[in-house]
Amino acid sequence: MQLRDPGLLRERAFVAGIWTGAAAAYAVRNPASGEHLADVPDMGATEARRAIDAADAALPAWRALTGKERATILRRWFELIMANIDDLATIMTSEQGKPLAEARGEVAYAASFVEWFAEEGKRVYGDTMPAPTGDRRIVVLKQPIGVCAAITPWNFPAAMITRKVAPALAAGCTVVVKPAEQTPLTALALMELADRAGFPAGVINVVTGSAASAPLIGGELTSNRVVRKLSFTGSTEVGRLLMAQCAPTIKKISLELGGNAPFIVFDDADVDAAVDGAMASKYRNAGQTCVCANRLLVQEGIYESFATKLAARVTALKVGAGSEEGVNQGPLIDAAALEKVEAHVADALAKGARILTGGRRHARGGTFFEPTVLADVTPEMRCSREETFGPVAPLFRFRDEAEAIALANATEYGLAAYFYARDVSRVWRVAEALEYGMVGINVGIIANEVAPFGGVKQSGIGREGSRYGIEEYLELKYLCLAV
Ligand code: ADP
Repeated sequence: MQLRDPGLLRERAFVAGIWTGAAAAYAVRNPASGEHLADVPDMGATEARRAIDAADAALPAWRALTGKERATILRRWFELIMANIDDLATIMTSEQGKPLAEARGEVAYAASFVEWFAEEGKRVYGDTMPAPTGDRRIVVLKQPIGVCAAITPWNFPAAMITRKVAPALAAGCTVVVKPAEQTPLTALALMELADRAGFPAGVINVVTGSAASAPLIGGELTSNRVVRKLSFTGSTEVGRLLMAQCAPTIKKISLELGGNAPFIVFDDADVDAAVDGAMASKYRNAGQTCVCANRLLVQEGIYESFATKLAARVTALKVGAGSEEGVNQGPLIDAAALEKVEAHVADALAKGARILTGGRRHARGGTFFEPTVLADVTPEMRCSREETFGPVAPLFRFRDEAEAIALANATEYGLAAYFYARDVSRVWRVAEALEYGMVGINVGIIANEVAPFGGVKQSGIGREGSRYGIEEYLELKYLCLAV
């Protein structure tokens, strides 16, 4: 890996402001080539406890700073992230696989949360309320929750960390992060920059561990009484487990879990714009995002033309290692991901779907899969009920608006939905009827730092980003003064 600043490649965890090893280590590999990139500490409950203690020790002084003082350090971190965007993107592509251009985009997106919450931290306004009797005064303060834990996934190795850590730090909380086992190097590079930015020791800690160690670290983060809040992004299955583990100590939780995003194209849509939106929403990060379109519902009048145009665009996608020039789609994260995608396609074909393009493992081998479009998909198929998390666009045909809404809502998930239509009344009707936390209307990419990201139903609890995101790290305190 060629870095301008080799100091960003860290092979130790970051606890109490010290680069820390462990008795064992595990290997981080490049999913495009299998190449060995680094060995990082394989930590467990003991190290997680040490990190929690460090965060607890750092809390009083950090909490006592003003929002403006904390903002100065956060701002410096933001600037350092942006100044090192190329190296961070190189590290990310190496361990995660996404094309370099996408990795750069993610670094900028990750940095945007640090900038945004540096600013929001200065605006943690309380409230005053007119009392019901003349001899009382009522004031509401907002105070940091305390020590927070963050468990993050591999698909956005930088942004899922900053989207949690930046609001927590801005609010005056201290944090312990457990990054995904596949992508610790991006997390550690961010910590190196945080250290340079001047966060006091213990304010942010990163504990790394292999897949086998994740439950040990997670067990400590969820059971330790010092931790007041857990924020998790990952699968619904693990989210459910962590929520249960947080129950005995009644921790606050934010969960950003799986999705099963419908992408609806109505007859009155601009079909070319819908194809553009579908390409962006479906094939970004090789289909490995929780807001990727999982089901494309297309009204019968434009079904054929949409399918033909989409398949032509998908056939032209260039597959390769993310570090190669002009690549649109990298490898899948691991063999299990590849097998799931393959199984979804096989199941659809067995139940009557048709391949318009792709459909198989890519000739490059490894975990590469062909960008795929399937037609004649029906609700009985697995790809209709489960998140495929790969570069497969299944096309469903529908007759009218009511059927589209019923199909779209027929899932236990409720993260993102998208639809393309031009009739203004329809736009309002459908936007209101979709049971989702986020709805893209005539657009396929909707996430940014100023808007609230999050889901309903089994897609999660809470919101990240926006002015709402910092509230997740604050407690209300009501003061009643007798005068
Ligand atoms: P994905 O399917 O995206 O890999 P996971 O939910 O398995 O999603 O992983 C998301 C994060 O949760 C990763 O950091 C992973 O290590 C962590 N994780 C997985 N299982 C557990 C567990 N039992 N306890 C704590 N963390 C876990």
